[in-house]
Amino acid sequence: MTEPTITQLKPMPDDWRRALAVVAHPDDLEYGCSAAIAAWTDAGREVTYVLATRGEAGIDTLEPAKCGPLREREQRAGAAVVGVSAVEFLDHQDGVIEYGTALRRDIAAAIRRHRPELVITLNHRDTWGGVAWNTPDHVAVGRATLDAAGDAGNRWIFPELAAQGLEPWNGVRWVAVAGSSTPTHAVDATTGLERGVRSLLEHRTYIKALTDEDPETYARGFLTANAEATGERFGGKPAVAFELFSR
Ligand SMILES: [Zn+2]
Repeated sequence: MTEPTITQLKPMPDDWRRALAVVAHPDDLEYGCSAAIAAWTDAGREVTYVLATRGEAGIDTLEPAKCGPLREREQRAGAAVVGVSAVEFLDHQDGVIEYGTALRRDIAAAIRRHRPELVITLNHRDTWGGVAWNTPDHVAVGRATLDAAGDAGNRWIFPELAAQGLEPWNGVRWVAVAGSSTPTHAVDATTGLERGVRSLLEHRTYIKALTDEDPETYARGFLTANAEATGERFGGKPAVAFELFSR
């Protein structure tokens, strides 16, 4: 019997200047993506984060009114580690984000404000690789982001945005989905992986509530294993995978 051929992932496009990453919660980008983002900001590209919530329902022992501001601080610190200074929050409610026109409008507005060529989001499908059930927040935000990339370019969808001075932006060329079980592309994480680990470690309160493991051992172990597994399909280099949709 012959071994099945493992399809290699293609390098992500690099002919762009601005990216906008749109996810549901603080830490969503730090569970893998931020190693790729470090490589992009090293190369002089501008990356902005937009979070639908402040992750205020993420820690059982901490009430939302206290948890939200704390997780916002941890998120801003995690972004700074990989060269991202612009972090915005859309103030949807953690855990019960609704897919719908309000969410699409808020994301389309962010796309019009920042005018990215590349939009990044997190797995919008029902499961993580058919193994674990995804959360409704990730599904809603991922799906709304894929949709809003188109909405942002149409003057007659959400006409109130143009009335507020946010002109249509038709320049989104790709939406890249992290955490997909059917990735197509990857970014070399050789130089970004260490900062990726440190960016996840900034979510210290969250990680301490999640696991009894030493935070550094946990963050390094998780991200290194994922980057090496992706690397098996990317010339043996540690890498971050994306499923890339063209527009
Ligand atoms: Zn999340």
